[in-house]
Amino acid sequence: MNDEVGTTHEVYKALLESTKAIPWKIDWKSMTFAYIGPQIEKLLGWSPSSWISVEDWAQRMHPEDRDAVVAFCVSQSQAGTDHEADYRALTASGEYVWIRDVVHVLRNAEGEVEALVGFMFDISERKKTEEQLLSLQKQLEEYSYKDGLTGVANRRMFDRVLASEWASAQRSGQPLSLVLLDIDCFKQYNDHYGHIQGDDCLKSVGQILQGALSRPRDFVARFGGEEFVLILPETDLEAAVQVAERCRRRVREQCIPHEKSAVATLLTISLGVGSLIPTLDDTPLPFIEAVDRLLYQAKQNGRNRLEAAHWQGQPADGARAVAD
Ligand code: GH3
Ligand code: MG
Ligand code: MG
Repeated sequence: MNDEVGTTHEVYKALLESTKAIPWKIDWKSMTFAYIGPQIEKLLGWSPSSWISVEDWAQRMHPEDRDAVVAFCVSQSQAGTDHEADYRALTASGEYVWIRDVVHVLRNAEGEVEALVGFMFDISERKKTEEQLLSLQKQLEEYSYKDGLTGVANRRMFDRVLASEWASAQRSGQPLSLVLLDIDCFKQYNDHYGHIQGDDCLKSVGQILQGALSRPRDFVARFGGEEFVLILPETDLEAAVQVAERCRRRVREQCIPHEKSAVATLLTISLGVGSLIPTLDDTPLPFIEAVDRLLYQAKQNGRNRLEAAHWQGQPADGARAVAD
């Protein structure tokens, strides 16, 4: 019989010590390790005999994890509740390994907590995958708000930023300005220089515009095709015209050749500039349409120029107006 018990014990021990999970037991009264599997040395580099008290366990934990994990495990154990905790365990060589500790509370006949037993699992691989997934997700989020070609914000981001600046201007009563701009004779540019160079040209214009903005909340996005849009919060018409004029000048000064342009031998842009203080009834779309009409006027009036106006709101008959 004894032999059999001995054999069973040997089998359990062999099994426990051959798994990847590391078994351990803590005596509750003395808060000391009654047992820890020899595998711990392979994983963390600390010999089993160096795990003496609960303090050793707590000290070999990442400082950022320690307080929360120790407090959680102590309170769960005191309540007699089985639990698990993830934390970074310190290795003997000074690195950290992600561990999941799964804890079972043992009670005596009177129902008092007598000991804790559990397994430590190495979850570094899982954590690494989780971290990779998270960073991938962040990247995806970034991509979904960025124009793939020019690297400036895309239309979706423009919609979000405008909605938020609109609401902010409604609250503060500060003027909000919008600049819509379009490259002149870009169809001829593509036809003459080819699409690849056309793409490069769009990238340059995106960069010039980004560089021409000076205030932290100023915002540029690709509106579509060869059109870009600027949102200038807390900026009145006069200041917005200055920014728009700076953009026009900088594109000219970049001296991008455009032999087939009807306007000049260098690349130029036309711009529409609008400004308003939105009331609580105003919505962005009629304002964007009004600024688009100003851009159209700039094209009509010869290109390589800007047209600007204050937004006058929506008259009662529903017609939308802009005024100089
Ligand atoms: P306007 O001066 O009146 O603006 O004339 P335009 O030729 O610039 O205007 P139009 O709308 O006729 O042509 C726009 C051109 O922009 C046509 C289109 O092929 C080109 N385009 C739009 N998106 C891209 C792009 O991503 N890459 C390149 N290379 N070309 C683009
Ligand atoms: Mg154009
Ligand atoms: Mg266009």
